[in-house]
This record gives sequence, C-alpha cells and structure tokens, in this order.
Amino acid sequence: MSARNSHLDYQSRLDQKLDILPGVGPRMVPKLKKLGLNSIEDALYHLPLRYEDRRQFKTINHLTDNQQEVFVGSVLASGETVTTRSRRRIYEVIVGDDTGKISLKWFRYRKPWLQKRYPVGQKAIFIGEVKRFSAIREIHHPDSELIDSDTDLQQLLQSDPLDYGRILPVYALTEGLSQKQARKIWYHLVHNFANLSQSFVPEPIRQKYHLKTISEALQQIHWPDEMVDLRDLEQGKDSARKSLVFDEFFFLELGLALKRAGVQLEVGIAFKFEHKFTIPLNKMLPFKLTEAQRRVLGEIKHDMMASQPMHRLLQGDVGSGKTLVALMAALIAIENRAQVAVVAPTEILAEQHYQTFSNWLNRLDLKAGLLQGSMPAAAKRNMLEQIAHGDIDLVVGTHAILQEGVEFHYLGLGIVDEQHRFGVRQRSLLKHKGVNPDILVMTATPIPRTLSMTLYGDLSVSVIDQLPPGRKPVVTQLFRSSQRHQAYQTIQRELEEGRQVYVVYPLVEESEKSDLQAATSAAESLANEIFPGSRVGLLHGQMKTVEKDAVMNSFRQGETQLLVSTTVIEVGVDVPNATVMMIEHADRFGLSQLHQLRGRVGRGADKSYCLLIPSEHYSEDAARRLQVMVKTNDGFRIAEADLEIRGPGDFIGTRQAGLADFRVASLLKDMRLLETARQEAFDFVEKTQRLSTEEAEPVKQELIRRWGGRLELAAIG
Ligand code: ADP
Ligand code: MG
Repeated sequence: MSARNSHLDYQSRLDQKLDILPGVGPRMVPKLKKLGLNSIEDALYHLPLRYEDRRQFKTINHLTDNQQEVFVGSVLASGETVTTRSRRRIYEVIVGDDTGKISLKWFRYRKPWLQKRYPVGQKAIFIGEVKRFSAIREIHHPDSELIDSDTDLQQLLQSDPLDYGRILPVYALTEGLSQKQARKIWYHLVHNFANLSQSFVPEPIRQKYHLKTISEALQQIHWPDEMVDLRDLEQGKDSARKSLVFDEFFFLELGLALKRAGVQLEVGIAFKFEHKFTIPLNKMLPFKLTEAQRRVLGEIKHDMMASQPMHRLLQGDVGSGKTLVALMAALIAIENRAQVAVVAPTEILAEQHYQTFSNWLNRLDLKAGLLQGSMPAAAKRNMLEQIAHGDIDLVVGTHAILQEGVEFHYLGLGIVDEQHRFGVRQRSLLKHKGVNPDILVMTATPIPRTLSMTLYGDLSVSVIDQLPPGRKPVVTQLFRSSQRHQAYQTIQRELEEGRQVYVVYPLVEESEKSDLQAATSAAESLANEIFPGSRVGLLHGQMKTVEKDAVMNSFRQGETQLLVSTTVIEVGVDVPNATVMMIEHADRFGLSQLHQLRGRVGRGADKSYCLLIPSEHYSEDAARRLQVMVKTNDGFRIAEADLEIRGPGDFIGTRQAGLADFRVASLLKDMRLLETARQEAFDFVEKTQRLSTEEAEPVKQELIRRWGGRLELAAIG
C-alpha cells in the first residue's frame, strides 16, 4: 500500500461513527451528538475537563478543600436533622478514619434508603467534592461504594482500572450520560482507536521540542499514567497537551506559510516611482507625516516596487493616520496608470472615505468615484462603465465593489478597510478584479499578536504605533445614570465653546424599534429641555442613504451641534471639531466598539471627553470593560483585555474567519507555542520547496485534508 493509501485508510477508520464502540447503542448516539461528537476522531479530541486522583485513597486529614476526593471511612453517626438557619430537613452521616472526621449531607433524599445504606459501622469508599463551611468539613450528595470491613484496599485499587488505582479523567457530560458510562466509553475508545491517529509533524521537529506522537499524547491525556504530574496536567502544561496543541498550530501556520509562499511566486505589478502626484500631495498637506507613517509608507513602497504582489496588513489605532498612508499608496499606483479600489465595511464609511480621497484627488486633477449597493440603477451603470473604461482612477465603495459585473480597466491596488468584517475570501475576490494587484488591508482595531498571526498570518504586517503630534488623550469618565447631569455640564460647556457632541445609543436587533424610540425621544428632550436652542440631529440605521448623508453633512459642516445616533457612526467618521462622545447604555457595547466610538473624538488639538453612562444594572464583564476604558486609551492594551474578557472566538466577532477554531489549543494560553510552531512551519515550507519533496509528501496530504477548501493553496507543488 502506498503512503497515501494507508493514510486514507487510517483516516476512514477515524471517520467511523461512534456506534461501533462497546457501550454506545442507538440511544447513546444522539446524546454524544449533543456534545458535538459524531465520529471516532471527534471523540478522541473530546478531552477530559479535569482529573481525579485515585492512585491512592487519601486519609481524611489530607483531603483538600474544593477538590473532588476519594477516601475510605466508617460511618460514626447517621440520621435526619434540621438545619438551624433555614429550618430545612437534611440527612447527615458522619464518617471517620484514624485521622479525622467529615460530614456527608443530603438535601434531597429518601430516608429509608439512606438509613439502610449507612448504618453505624458501615465501611465505604466515598467520592465527592470537599467543602469547608465550619470547623468540620462537608461533602454534599457524595457517591459511595460499600465495602466489607476486611476488604484489602490495595487489591481493590488494582482490580478495577476504570474506577480506582489511577488518575481518572472527568469528562463533560450531557443528560443521560453518566461519568461512569463516559469513562467506559472513552477507555475503549482510547485503547482501540488512539493508535490510528498518525503524527504528521515531521520527526526532527517533534524531537527538537520533545513532542509525543498524537497517539501517545491522546492516550496520556485521557488515561494518564501514574508518573504524570497532576498539577501540570490540570493546568494544561503537560507534554501530551503541548504535543496536540503544537500539531494544531503547525498545520495552521503551514497553510499560512504556503499561502504566503504562493503569493511570492505570483507575478504582480512592479510599480515605478514617478513622484508625479506624491510630491505635490506632500506639498499640499497642512502637516508633516509622522515618523511611523513614513516608516510604514517605506515598507509599502518596497512591496509595491517588487514584482511579487503586495499582501500587507496596515495596523494602527483609530486616528493614527492610516487613511493618509493609504492615499499615498493609491497615488503611487495611479502614477503608474493603474486604478485603485477602496473597500469599506459600511456605506457611511465608504461615503466618508470617498470624501477624503476625492478631495485630494480632485486637487491633483484625478478622478474618484463612489459605488454603493443602494445607488439608483442608472447612476450605477454609469459608474460601472467609467470604471471599466479606466476613466475613474480610484473607486470607493462597500462590498458592492467585489460583486460580479464590476470590472476594472486595470486594477493595480486594492485597499480594504477591514474593521474585522472581511475575511480571506473577500481579499481573494478583490484580488481577482485584476491580475495580481497589490493588496493593502487596513485595520483600526489593534489585534493582539497571537490573533493577527492566525487571522492575518499570510500577510506582512506594518504598524503605525504613533499618533500625530498634539493629540491629547481623551478623558474618559464613568457616570451612574443618576449622575447624568454632571455629564450634561461637560456637554454644555463644550457647546458654549463652539464644539460639537455625539450622543450614542446602542441598537440591539431584537428591539430595534424601542431602541430607536429611545434615541428619538432623547434627541427631542436634548433639543427642547436640556440644551434648549442647540441644533440637534438624529442619525439611525433605518434612514435612507440620502437622509443619512444629509445629517452627516450638516454635522461635518458644523450646522448640527449635537448628533444623536445609533451606532452607525461606529467606524471612521472624522469631524475634528467634535470633542464629546457620550455613550448611553455603555454596558451594552463591546470593548472594541467603545474604543472605536471614543476614537471619533480627540481628533483635533482640543481636549476631548468620552462620557460613559451605563444602564442601571449591568454584568460583571460589562463593569470590567468600562473600567478598562476609564483606565487606558491604548488600543493594544484594550484589545488584549478584550481578548481576555471575551475569548478569541467572540473577539473575532463571527466565526467567519474559520481559522481560529481549535480543538485543543487556546490562543490565550498557548501564545509561545504558536510562535514556535509558526517559525518551524515557515522554515519547513522553505526547506521543502513548498512541500514538493518526498519527505514532505505525507505532510502535504494531511494539510490538504485539514484545510479543505478554506484556502486556495495555489502554491502546493
Ligand atoms: P485613521 O484612518 O488611522 O483612523 P486618519 O487617516 O483618518 O486616521 O487620520 C485622522 C486625522 O488625523 C485626520 O483628520 C488626518 O487628516 C489627521 N492626520 C493624519 N496624519 C497626520 C499627521 N501626520 N499630522 C497631523 N494630522 C494628521
Ligand atoms: Mg480612518
């Protein structure tokens, strides 16, 4: 059998349904399905939640509080009592050994059954979580196994490996699946099937990091041998888990490395510098580029000059000046007679970008166009024609740009303003609007390093880590709903100074109507009662695009002083004269949303304020988010905190990214291992000429199996 066939053979056995296991009948199958387990392989990766140490029975004086413990004792007293405080009936059994006593309690019970089971003098093995409420420790609703007083305990420990004498796994359960059943199922599973899981991380790499094979690792993690360090195991620091995590990371990074290598093989456009537009722009700008902007621009220029296509991520906090860098890059492409596409996540932001870009382009005698999904058909057709003819130098729009029917005369550069909303697929669609155009992805939400390594691992990264000079950090204050008048004082003062103010309401989908009502009536009361005589505007998601534009323009031009809005202004809006961002029901927003909103102010030279007003009652997580906001303005620290509070799955927003789903690995816990795996994967791809050597063949097959259709792995030899 060839290597490839045997590989598939193993795999098809791992893909078998679970009913081939002893103890798994037609009634058990749907229960396991509820746990997300359909195949043998799924179940092998259903790892224990924790472990119970049943290598020895403990003595009562050595029981540890808040742990599941197993010990032997004799009944000293047994009977029903009434609690002093709640006057509830309980059944209590006092158990002792040579070293001490412990109390067992039942709150729901059948008295005759307990009386019969636990007479004074009865000896038993007890299992349960030890709690300490007073001097004497307690276990509620323990499990037990009765034994004769002359039972040989050592012999018992050895006779029943599913229940005693070793470290036992504790699995996540579901209704109708008991821990005892689960142990039996997984015992057979692991002993009969773990050895089918082959290891494809190349041997030399495995040796270098002392990694186990997958099969060894799975056995060890489900049924640890006696020598294992239980603390390591519980904290996920054991070598078995590390080996599984490395395997996941290695194949993830391998895919990304190949993708990157593939891009480097493609022939893109080698732009030349004419300085025909970039120098004039520089002269027109009212400010100098920051150090960071210049460095990043240098990196982009270098990529654009090269004959391989650029695939670069431009990361920078809100207001760090990414748009300007993107404009410079756009001008370089246009100097080479190429077109530029700028893709934004929302129509409002597309409109905003259009204004910025067309403003500068017009002054250079160049032509920008706007393409929105909501445009009238005739205008759209006209725009499409101009794009196809090459009359438009730069087109801004939403994902409408990515649709079929949009054709460019010669697309040289695609700029994606991402805000987490696009993924690999969108980048690839944009790429196919031209012949390997350069791609620049901008993201305002700083992404912790581990996440950017997985989400954007195939891109080179540039970071603008500096704000333009003269920016003062936004002062962030948290007010209780009842202290709202204090927030109003700040607003009053700023309005009198001629500044502008945002008031934001959350929009929760289920109750869109009532939220809208809240925003509408707030706008009325702000205009009529609280700041009478001030000019108040209202912006919400259900308005037509023309209406939104009118409201935004009025605010931009300073006619509207106070803009009440649902979160449609979340991204990108740039009005330097606005100095106050007041956020109602601030507890309902996520951290990165709050940070984005706050980034709308503090854009000019004046001191700015972010006033957070949470609902009356809010969760602990919300409280943590609000505290983070008050404490720091640093986008990277906020992103890290966000990742910690929410976990990576949620952080990405939707799971659309798909890349960050791991069975074992955690992006929080396993950061170091990710970096190692990435390094090794990238080296391996280079060493094997993109997996084209014989040594790499099995690795390549496994990679294709795991990544499936998620990436175009054009580079695979
Ligand atoms: P981002 O896209 O990163 O959120 P923008 O490019 O929109 O940031 O820039 C925010 C504001 O800062 C804009 O008003 C822009 O004109 C201004 N700006 C950009 N670069 C500089 C700079 N080097 N010096 C001063 N102001 C700048
Ligand atoms: Mg911007």
